[in-house]
Amino acid sequence: MLIEVWADTRRTGRCRSCGARIEWATAVSTGTAMPFDAPIVAESRRGLFVDERQVDAVDTLYSPSHFETCPQAPDWRRKGSR
Ligand SMILES: [Zn+2]
Repeated sequence: MLIEVWADTRRTGRCRSCGARIEWATAVSTGTAMPFDAPIVAESRRGLFVDERQVDAVDTLYSPSHFETCPQAPDWRRKGSR
């Protein structure tokens, strides 16, 4: 699945639950920040701009959402994600 994200929202971080390296990006469709396993494998969609902002397409086959891969994922709902 391809998820389109705003390129200028991408930033690296660490999962607060398991300590894994992750990369945050805000999905264009939902406007919510999502954690992906780092580094993100993204197609830079050159020429694809929405409101003059660059859009990257993240392939979840190679960069799954960390919500799905985190071994501590069940904790996220309890503590909330940041
Ligand atoms: Zn984690």
